[in-house]
Amino acid sequence: MTPQSEDFSAWYNELVVQAQLVDRGPVRGTMVIRPYGYRVWELLQADLDRRIKDAGHDNVSFPSLIPESYLKREAEHVEGFSPELAVVTHAGGKELDEPLVVRPTSETIIGEYMAKWIDSHRDLPLLLNQWANVVRWEMRPRLFLRTTEFLWQEGHTAHADEDDAMRETMWALDAYAGVARELAAMPVVPGEKTPGERFAGAVRTYTLEAMMRDGRALQAATSHYLGTNFAKAFEIQYQDEAGKLTPAHTTSWGMTTRMLGAVVMTHGDDKGLVLPPRLAPYQVVIVPIGRKEQGEQAAAEARRLGAAIRAMGIRVHVDDNRPQLSPGFKFNEWEMRGVPVRVELGKRDIDGGVATLVRRLPTVEGQGKEQIPLDKLPELLPGILADFQSFLLARAEAFREENTAVVDGWDAFVAQVASGWARAFHCGATACEDDVKAETAATPRVIPADAPDETGTCVKCGSPSAYGRRVIFGRAY
Ligand code: AMP
Repeated sequence: MTPQSEDFSAWYNELVVQAQLVDRGPVRGTMVIRPYGYRVWELLQADLDRRIKDAGHDNVSFPSLIPESYLKREAEHVEGFSPELAVVTHAGGKELDEPLVVRPTSETIIGEYMAKWIDSHRDLPLLLNQWANVVRWEMRPRLFLRTTEFLWQEGHTAHADEDDAMRETMWALDAYAGVARELAAMPVVPGEKTPGERFAGAVRTYTLEAMMRDGRALQAATSHYLGTNFAKAFEIQYQDEAGKLTPAHTTSWGMTTRMLGAVVMTHGDDKGLVLPPRLAPYQVVIVPIGRKEQGEQAAAEARRLGAAIRAMGIRVHVDDNRPQLSPGFKFNEWEMRGVPVRVELGKRDIDGGVATLVRRLPTVEGQGKEQIPLDKLPELLPGILADFQSFLLARAEAFREENTAVVDGWDAFVAQVASGWARAFHCGATACEDDVKAETAATPRVIPADAPDETGTCVKCGSPSAYGRRVIFGRAY
């Protein structure tokens, strides 16, 4: 595998396949998510789905084929998505009267039905969510990060007024931040996008930006306040208390299988993946050591230990049926596949009543292999895994801070965005963003929600700054 420091992109592309997360699909830009990768997705999905339901949303399922005319009803939406659409023109052996779009997102078709289902203010808010696959014909595909077909959830909600819709928009962003921080150990920066980076058809787009280990930014999830744009296009309206017909205010928000790529790029190293325990298919792998009879004894002991660990609610795998492979090979393989904790069990360990525990990364300096009494190990593991999870978040946060700088002059800006993030003043003009991008490949990633109030002059054009704070710029995936 190409070392991360040599060619980050090659490292990533090779690793996700070698670690058996994913394979390339037959059609360019598509992917086959393998069991190991799909389990990570399921773990994330289960947690996010619980948050969505706890906040009162209901899951639904809409068709993946959308009449082309629906897309055309919201002018900005269709303009934004047109280049990415896959369109079905033939079916059942003949040309269709109306082409069908394979959904790139479902605002339009869900909007059509919201209009049917909403009559009165009593029908609001309408809080829907769908787990689905969508298709966007991406020109620069990359496994997980930007595939032409991906899995996601899309929340779609309708509200009586802007206040309620904005509360919802921010709720979704906050739920995503919780998933990113608590499960993926990704220290995301929440905030608004500049107009140039808005979702097609949105009034305001909010994002979570994360820093990858090469200093680039990744948009981890987005939440949109759509105003009355879609409500007007699809006649999503209600009778208010005075009986007046009023357009609803809608929102949409999504998190995708991109998160798997984000986890790889946030935590991985030259040895391979580093999975946060809360998303790891196997949190602990036990490797019995020894040949023949000794090997069989070790395997039996490993299975007993595995059962005791499983009883603690930990996802554990016992690597006991590959006698043709050496322990060293297995250690390397589980490291490459990012297993947080490895337990080695040989004759000497068993005779001494201990097991040898190795973390995927030392959580304190100088930490190496540790001998732990066999009878104590199961009850110690939840704490060890929780510490490892917090360690990864803290490490990623420290990395982001080391690679972020407040900059004012243009030369300093250019130097900073070559390897990390710049906090800089920006005039807010889309044309100026385009100039920045043309010269540096960097874009405004986020107007950070928690940045201090400040004004100054645009780092590029010198005009007065917009937004009353610095904007984070960086090169992005
Ligand atoms: P959007 O509906 O455009 O706001 O997209 C929602 C989220 O999906 C974005 O914030 C990205 O994190 C993610 N995303 C967008 N395009 C892709 C893609 N082609 N593959 C995987 N994830 C994507």
